Amino acid sequence: MPLYRLLTVLFLLLGSAVSAATRPNIILIVSDDVGYGDIGCYGATHVRTPNLDRLAREGTRFTDAHATASVCTPTRFALLTGKYAWRVPGTGIAPGDSTLLIPQGTPTIASELKSAGYSTGLIGKWHLGLGTTTPDFNSDLKPGPVELGFDYAFFIPATGDRVPCVFVQNHRVVDLEPTDPITVSYKGRIGNEPIGSEHQDWLKIKGDRSHSDAIVNGISRIGFMTGGHRAQWVDETIADTLARQAVTFIERQKEDQPFFLLLTPHDIHEPMVPNPRFRGTSDCGWRGDVIHQLDWTVGEVLGTLDRLGIAKNTLVIFSSDNGGAIKSTYDDGTNPLHGRQSSNGILRGQKGSLYEGGHRVPFLARWPGHIPAGRESPALLALVDLLPTFADLAGRTISTGASPDGVNLKSTLLLDAKAKQRPALVLQSNRTTYLAIRDGDWKLVETAAGPQLYNLAADLVEAHDLAKSEPARVKSLAAKLAAERARTQ
Ligand code: CA
Repeated sequence: MPLYRLLTVLFLLLGSAVSAATRPNIILIVSDDVGYGDIGCYGATHVRTPNLDRLAREGTRFTDAHATASVCTPTRFALLTGKYAWRVPGTGIAPGDSTLLIPQGTPTIASELKSAGYSTGLIGKWHLGLGTTTPDFNSDLKPGPVELGFDYAFFIPATGDRVPCVFVQNHRVVDLEPTDPITVSYKGRIGNEPIGSEHQDWLKIKGDRSHSDAIVNGISRIGFMTGGHRAQWVDETIADTLARQAVTFIERQKEDQPFFLLLTPHDIHEPMVPNPRFRGTSDCGWRGDVIHQLDWTVGEVLGTLDRLGIAKNTLVIFSSDNGGAIKSTYDDGTNPLHGRQSSNGILRGQKGSLYEGGHRVPFLARWPGHIPAGRESPALLALVDLLPTFADLAGRTISTGASPDGVNLKSTLLLDAKAKQRPALVLQSNRTTYLAIRDGDWKLVETAAGPQLYNLAADLVEAHDLAKSEPARVKSLAAKLAAERARTQ
């Protein structure tokens, strides 16, 4: 072989080795309802989270990261699509029989990474609907995650407190017996199985009025469901099932193909039902115990990466889909202990709110050799930004029209000194009448009584509304928000 050809071959080999080494596996763990103050490395003192603290020690802890929305479905919509959910009507908290909220064909974080050559998986909570008509849980459930770019999906269709209380693997309910079909209704009672509002004595934990319909595993839920008994989950083992799925997914991956795993644990959403091995292990009742359970899940993932020797080439991110809440939706007997620790630290507001406690969330990122270890970053970022950021890490130029609102924050994630501040970020709650906009240190919060203005650098707890003393700034932020609302692409 002539020397120049040999050099060309060597160069190509070297080139592909370099690109393989710098295209990381990506594991994104988006927990549920975990607040800014809920874990050790963000200041919690009544729970112990050694695995999450390890991520902080071996990676970077971001202190100004946002879930984009302060409730589940719109945050997940924005994460998947890179598009603010408030732009699309009907993307508020979805019922368990919702149709798919993301139209098939929309570029998603999964389809973009799949197009870049990644093997893609979703394990955990979905809560973005299924199918184009009201889903029949006895037949193929599609389109869903698979049609949106996930090669493999094992998921809870909606939430732990909503029917149907079953797992779906790709298109099918797991362990469903054809002789015992599932029927789901959010309109009214169906069948003659007992319901929570009539059989309080049947319940292992009591639900409030809205959580008093179908009884599954001794716990009443939102919505009615009959049949599918063999397929019904046992709350105490949901974390075990999802962790086992995540470990198996990682083990199955081929050495020469990078993978993307979106792991969305049920914890710490209600009902908070820890496995008996976690009960009583925290100082905050079952709410703290499920934080321990979540930390254990993270430990299972990190341990698998260590065991397989792939931790070095895997970006692991941990975050949450909205701020924390202390609610007593279910009475597990430990509710008085839940509030021992402020779920959102010093922040004002909680899940569902436009104040920081609603949407500022933990965000830990570890990628050995690429993201500095043991550091803290005050950079502004949001889950809506992860689609373009991950696409860049995967060496892909995103599809035309993809991610209209997400910003590529690769340099921010890698703590590049030249990283630019993210432009204005729009935040939402479940309702979209009022939004908030964040620009640098300043935040405008729309309310029924008019806009409020906060300087987060001086007033992180949003105690001093400066709207009256800073009218020019209110005007300029309101104009930016109006421009965002008017923007169609
Ligand atoms: Ca949530």
